[in-house]
Amino acid sequence: MGKNIPELYGSLVFNDKVMRNKLPKDVYKALRKTIENGTHLELDVANAVAVAMKEWAVENGATHFTHWFQPMTGITAEKHDSFITPTGDCEINMDFSGKELVKGEPDASSFPSGGLRATFEARGYTAWDPTSPAFIKDGTLCIPTAFCSYSGEALDKKTPLLRSMETLSREAVRLLRILGRDDITRVLATVGPEQEYFLIDKDLYKKRKDLIFCGRTLLGSPAPKGQEMEDHYFGVLKPRISAFMHDLDEELWKLGIPAKTKHNEVAPAQHELAPVFETANIAADHNQVTMEIMKKVAEKHGLVCLLHEKPFEGINGSGKHNNWSLTANDGSNLLNPGKTPAENTQFLLFLTAVIQAVDEYADLLRVSVASAGNDHRLGANEAPPAIISIFLGEELSAILDSIENDTFFKDPGRILMSAGATVLPHFIKDNTDRNRTSPFAFTGNKFEFRMLGSHASVSGPNVVLNTAVAEILSQFSDRLCNVPKDHLHDEIMSLLKDTIRSHKKVVFNGNGYTDEWIEEAQKRGLANLRSSADAFPKFISPKSMDLFTRHQIFTEEEIRSRYEIFLENYRKTIYIEAKTLVEMAEKEFLPSLLAYTGDMIKIAFAKQNFLSRTASDAEKFFIEHLSSGYEEAFQLLSDLKSSLCTAQAISDPLKNAQYCHDTLLSSMEKLRATLDDLETRMPSDYLPYPTYDQLLFSI
Ligand code: ADP
Ligand code: MG
Repeated sequence: MGKNIPELYGSLVFNDKVMRNKLPKDVYKALRKTIENGTHLELDVANAVAVAMKEWAVENGATHFTHWFQPMTGITAEKHDSFITPTGDCEINMDFSGKELVKGEPDASSFPSGGLRATFEARGYTAWDPTSPAFIKDGTLCIPTAFCSYSGEALDKKTPLLRSMETLSREAVRLLRILGRDDITRVLATVGPEQEYFLIDKDLYKKRKDLIFCGRTLLGSPAPKGQEMEDHYFGVLKPRISAFMHDLDEELWKLGIPAKTKHNEVAPAQHELAPVFETANIAADHNQVTMEIMKKVAEKHGLVCLLHEKPFEGINGSGKHNNWSLTANDGSNLLNPGKTPAENTQFLLFLTAVIQAVDEYADLLRVSVASAGNDHRLGANEAPPAIISIFLGEELSAILDSIENDTFFKDPGRILMSAGATVLPHFIKDNTDRNRTSPFAFTGNKFEFRMLGSHASVSGPNVVLNTAVAEILSQFSDRLCNVPKDHLHDEIMSLLKDTIRSHKKVVFNGNGYTDEWIEEAQKRGLANLRSSADAFPKFISPKSMDLFTRHQIFTEEEIRSRYEIFLENYRKTIYIEAKTLVEMAEKEFLPSLLAYTGDMIKIAFAKQNFLSRTASDAEKFFIEHLSSGYEEAFQLLSDLKSSLCTAQAISDPLKNAQYCHDTLLSSMEKLRATLDDLETRMPSDYLPYPTYDQLLFSI
């Protein structure tokens, strides 16, 4: 029996339909107004909403509620309170008030605050975000909330995102008004995050400390087969994977998460899920829930879902493509070029504003995707390079050229595509081809920012993107606002020309993976911030401070505290990896190696006695190799331990991060290289953990 998906969809969400059914008309209207226009919500409205919400939640099996928030740990947090209120002799009511809906007071002292909140001042507040619908997860009503300190500083990922969306809307509307679009009152940033992940067998996972503690393998030589046959991408789904994806879709649909596309990715055991886009805020919330549900559903199928950016050496890592656009309240997409983009000045203004924003604030975009995990992708030999450039495609590039040079743009017209065989349908060709190597690509009616790490929240990158674009739109409006109507078109053309001239250096339509591009980018003056340690300081630069404080996205203290948290996360992640590698080498690998070497020597001796001959050259060579490997590994292990001690003694957080990147990680890599080589010489029975071929090819 097929399930009724439309009925299933959103069944665990306090969605519009439920609200309309459950709320008194005036309350419903007031709430809608808040959701749509961002207006303030009165307490009596909140009280009425709380009653309806609780009733609905209890009907759907919920016993608890939680203010669900996104602290700076990068994952979500929840503290569950039951609805019960004892009323006397063993009796209770199920209660929930407007006050409980609107505000929570979790003890905030154990969340990262980057020095914003001393532990003696542990009070933190969570505040209901009515623009993101409440939902039921595991019998608990989850209320999406923002999280701030007693003195009002943001301690989470949601608050700045909401602030940046408001700023962007205001600036976009202002520019549209100048263009005569009085009908537009609100503009929403929309986001569709494509999520990559790996699935491996749970029993194998449990045998590897590195996967358990770090989410990635710190050791392991490549399997005989990697991704070179290009046979996994879009390949047929194996039954176990297909069953997982099926369950995952259903769980997500129940939560109103519009999971749309699923497929195998390039690397063996790698997959992808793409939802339909939503407002940036809801997309960010939904992406967090998606990652959580992926892990849960995987467990049920005897699998483990790895969201780390680089779980395995030698094959692709995982990213998250942040598809981003702007939707006006009439439903139109402001980045839609239309049939004749060359004449669409509104589109061209928004397009060039994004180009300028990305060029001017490339360093902040780079910071927004920086993490210890993502360092293994960006600037390494895969995925987008660490240099930020924009892919526009031929047609748009030609249009911008013609504006810059006052030449005539000949519209090629829509090209009818024919695949050559008459039975195949003809269709109209897209105006951009795909370019998989660009970190920031225009893909028809949206930009796709591809540098995000697979496990990170999408909030940070969208905060930067929204704010940077808002800043440029505001500059555009300043220039155009006092221009008389009959000169407006000329002034817009000259603004476009100036913008293209100054910022076309960030446009690059070629292959972003080549060395030539790195050279060329340097000539163009584009930043190449290879590691997180290189990138983080840009966040506290005067330019960053100016941008974020002027638009009231962050205060200076909030910026500094986030900077501290970035560095702290980075350092702690690498410490945990180093300590895990030390343990694996010391307690698992080297003892196994010793045991194997010992057994080899015993066999050689036994042969000597039994066959009355001395050890053969092969035996000697082999034992010699294992023994010298042991010596070498032992030395590299001591080096790693002492690098770790040195790192822990560096008190300056930035110097510490740099040391972690330059020295500690390279100590780890050296030890790994030696152990991986020894691994190839040891029989499976002696190896203390499952190898790459088992991890990647056992499903
Ligand atoms: P691909 O990147 O493989 O071409 P799609 O064209 O299907 O994939 O789009 C990828 C993602 O882009 C999806 O999540 C989709 O919902 C999202 N997307 C489409 N239009 C917009 C938009 N206007 N704003 C934000 N995201 C969008
Ligand atoms: Mg894509």
